[in-house]
Amino acid sequence: MKVAALASKRGHTVTLYEKEGKLGGHLEMLRQLPSRETWGDAISDLSNAMARNEVDVRLGVDASPALLLDEDYESIICATGSRWDASGLSPYRPDRERIPGAERPHVLDLGTALGEALSRSRALGDSVLIVDDSGSYLPLGFAELLTSAGVAVEILSPRLFVGEETLKSGDMAYLLPFLRERGTQFYAQHFVETIDQDGVQVYDIWNPRQRFTLHPAHVILATMRVPDDALYRALRASSSREIHRVGDALAPRALEAVMYEGEKLGREI
Ligand SMILES: Cc1cc2nc3c(=O)[nH]c(=O)nc-3n(C[C@H](O)[C@H](O)[C@H](O)COP(=O)(O)OP(=O)(O)OC[C@H]3O[C@@H](n4cnc5c(N)ncnc54)[C@H](O)[C@@H]3O)c2cc1C
Repeated sequence: MKVAALASKRGHTVTLYEKEGKLGGHLEMLRQLPSRETWGDAISDLSNAMARNEVDVRLGVDASPALLLDEDYESIICATGSRWDASGLSPYRPDRERIPGAERPHVLDLGTALGEALSRSRALGDSVLIVDDSGSYLPLGFAELLTSAGVAVEILSPRLFVGEETLKSGDMAYLLPFLRERGTQFYAQHFVETIDQDGVQVYDIWNPRQRFTLHPAHVILATMRVPDDALYRALRASSSREIHRVGDALAPRALEAVMYEGEKLGREI
């Protein structure tokens, strides 16, 4: 949206395809969380900039390589975003590619789980364990949504403390007391060894022989985000046109870095 508005302002004829019925991408999902409605201002701001600069916005269109290459576009920019990895791959455990048991039906990635909880707050049952090694806002915001609906939540993280990154944004001072008051259990400096029929086997990262078992109805993995770059790769493989990727599709990051990159590309093309 950022690149589209700017490129159009600089004289290009720009078309933006969005496969959903609404603009906003991940901001649209964040906006639906308790206390996050002001993220909607960012969506309005970007949408208004596109409208002012006469970007042709086509909602509900899943842009395929065939559709895009059929048109006469001089350059194509893929801003297709990212998703949460569902395997439990974690930089804290470089010795393994997944958490054993991550394929079990009661184990979901955070993006999928959030989608379900936003449509029905108790869709994930009475008790949820969030395995978070992002330290970011979203796992805590998800816990806020669940505890507000009476779900018992446990948050486990190999980091020094749960929600580490929210210290910098100032969210911690509100979120941690809120969650504690609603009985949320925090296990910092712990990680998951395996998820099996007996439950979730957890270990202390400083003394891995120190173990215990948790028994949540669902386990939610918030370990890594991975780029959704299949469109970019398919276009690069089949066309010699100018093709870019931008934002989370290049590498999942914080919003301010993505906005900066959008501004930069909008000025460059
Ligand atoms: C789960 C999550 C939580 C985050 N939490 C925070 C936070 O708390 N604070 C913060 O600063 N940043 C946060 N971020 C980062 C920030 O939201 C992202 O960096 C930013 O939204 C990325 O923007 P984007 O445009 O690259 O991707 P997205 O916002 O994901 O947008 C990609 C868009 O492309 C569309 N699309 C994909 N494929 C196609 C196709 N083939 N055809 C048409 N449309 C398509 C999608 O529907 C989507 O609307 C979070 C990101 C994620 C993923």
